[in-house]
Amino acid sequence: MTIKKIFKDFEKIKDKTIIIIGAGGLGCVVADLLSRMNIDFTIVDDDIVDDNNLERQILFNENDLLKKKVFVIKEKLREFSNIDAIGKRLDEKNIKTIINDADLVIDCTDNVQARIIINGYCIKNNIPWIYSGAVSNIGTIYFIKDNACYECINKDKDGETSCEIGVMNSIVAIIGAWTVNIALQYLIEGKTEEDMIRINLKNNELMKIKTKKDPKCKVCGEIKKEKKRKSSQNCFSMNH
Ligand SMILES: [Zn+2]
Repeated sequence: MTIKKIFKDFEKIKDKTIIIIGAGGLGCVVADLLSRMNIDFTIVDDDIVDDNNLERQILFNENDLLKKKVFVIKEKLREFSNIDAIGKRLDEKNIKTIINDADLVIDCTDNVQARIIINGYCIKNNIPWIYSGAVSNIGTIYFIKDNACYECINKDKDGETSCEIGVMNSIVAIIGAWTVNIALQYLIEGKTEEDMIRINLKNNELMKIKTKKDPKCKVCGEIKKEKKRKSSQNCFSMNH
């Protein structure tokens, strides 16, 4: 495989557990690219293929209408890699079983609620995740590990989704492909991207945006406080 010429330690990725949440436009691109590099992963979504999807959800065609997306993806990519397809909607109850102690979670959903759930679980369990989103002709990729979490940066709790205002298939392809690159860099080389990447195809703009941790963040802020509290308690008991 050519990829081994680019990433010398490519085989390292074979031991990693990767979970893709969402099997829409972004999920199709991410799944397709990972699978063609013989990378195994789990993909989670309860949605079925609709004819409005075909323009940007590149793994589906008319024969797949009304079938569950994750099972279509598993079947179409089976010659390339092993895919664990979970036909459920991720929620607070099943997230522990689904994500467990994955090495990386890739968010390919188009809704804020799902991201809030992923962020809460991943921050608490110290699992890095990539927030990957595309709406209209704007796309965002943000790798979250020790930097500002989704809660720190997301002030727009009810952001518009691609279902509501549409999305260009070209931005979906770009964001999906770039997300895969960020995932490979992290899983193979341990490289992390601290900044948020934003692409605006309307103006042909690419931005790297600095983010800032909110010390009062209810997700990553409290954990920090709790750790501090625990360590001060330890000091206290050691002194006695
Ligand atoms: Zn936070």
